[in-house]
Amino acid sequence: MRDDSPNSWESRADSFSLYGFTDLPSVHERGAVVVTHGKGPYVYDVHGREYLDANSGLWNMVAGFDHPGLAEAAKAQYDRFPGYHAFFGRMSDQTVLLSQKLVEVSPFEKGRVFYTNSGSEANDTMVKILWFLGAAEGNPQRRKIITRVNSYHGVTAVSASMTGKPYNSVFGLPLPGFIHVGCPHYWRFGQDGETEEQFTERMAKELEATIIKEGPDTIAGFFAEPVMGAGGAIPPSKGYFQAVQKVLKRYNIPLIADEVITGFGRTGNTWGCETYDFTPDAIISSKNLTAGYFPMGAVILGPDLADRVQAAAEAIEEFPHGFTASGHPVGCAVALKAIDVIMSEGLAENVRTLTPLFEEGMARLAENANIGEWRGKGLMGALEAVQDKATKTPFDGSLSVSERIANTCTDMGLICRPLGQAVVLCPPFIMTPAQMDEMFDKLEKALKKVFAEVA
Ligand SMILES: *Cc1c(COP(=O)(O)O)cnc(C)c1O
Repeated sequence: MRDDSPNSWESRADSFSLYGFTDLPSVHERGAVVVTHGKGPYVYDVHGREYLDANSGLWNMVAGFDHPGLAEAAKAQYDRFPGYHAFFGRMSDQTVLLSQKLVEVSPFEKGRVFYTNSGSEANDTMVKILWFLGAAEGNPQRRKIITRVNSYHGVTAVSASMTGKPYNSVFGLPLPGFIHVGCPHYWRFGQDGETEEQFTERMAKELEATIIKEGPDTIAGFFAEPVMGAGGAIPPSKGYFQAVQKVLKRYNIPLIADEVITGFGRTGNTWGCETYDFTPDAIISSKNLTAGYFPMGAVILGPDLADRVQAAAEAIEEFPHGFTASGHPVGCAVALKAIDVIMSEGLAENVRTLTPLFEEGMARLAENANIGEWRGKGLMGALEAVQDKATKTPFDGSLSVSERIANTCTDMGLICRPLGQAVVLCPPFIMTPAQMDEMFDKLEKALKKVFAEVA
């Protein structure tokens, strides 16, 4: 597969890259896939091989890899005004327009927006806002952050501490004061004889017990993805957000929706919180915000938090926070176009059209004796591989089942993502039904091949 000559793309990638989130034995053996360009939902590597990217890049390239309108919006803004900051009372016109737009399309009647370069920094910024508020309102002890096991909130020191994955222990994380409660995955964590409603109730009770144990006045906020993304495309159990929000309200703890993946259409509505019928106190956005055409994140504060942060800032005459490229005019121009493309130019509609086909395809593959469940919402989903369907017993970890499935798919020209023992799919919103068929046909062949080897 890989070209081993010293000057090949694979060799040079190996020599000069510090690979992030990459299985090193696998990349050494197979070589990195070095891509040069894309067309619709397809990407092409340096050898001219074509791959259907069923993961929209990293969840974000929802308009595909050659959207003319998005590239045009970036080019036009580069020509008009290629860069500016948002410090000292100066900012670009595009930044003002995007903030107004984001509040308009948010579930909030009013609000305020703060920009970052990534989702991690947006979560980090939100935590700093909550810490700032605690201190300003006479509650400097209100600093603890609650998130869930299996959640993914990013990689900065703070957002990695929020992330509920064991791999962060290699960095000595989480930092003190970052607390993880249970993952609302009923199929995996429901107990024998427990109904889904009882499971949800148990999750809410656990949250309340944690709040009481830690001290309610020490908790600054609770962050949750409406559908867990990098945890394995895990939708919440029935009634989860209603049950959890009731507990949080009892103790005046803000609920922050990390909508970095779910925001802008992924679950079939503009926001995941709409899909699950709750209103958070703030929203974290990134990824789809620019359809992946510019690195950008945003904190969208709902009315209560917006007013309180503004008051706290007025009191000391400043909110001392910002990134050099916060509110970058090109990023804002691209985001304004991306929001139009998704919400008004047919992409959100296509998500709703494709969702039944997606669900059908997933359900068909889940009939396989070695698929324990399929789960998902809208155009994000996962197939969970199991050695024994009845007992939900996973395969031996040493078999690397999901990696083998994903590698087999790559060899067939399909990119999908192994996560634990699941294979995750989150196709771009521009997919056609024929491309959806191609995706499921290839994946089905890969599943059959790998299960025949390991089962
Ligand atoms: C990707 C992601 C982040 C981090 O965003 P980056 O831009 O990679 O820093 C945060 N939260 C969720 C839910 C994500 O999926």
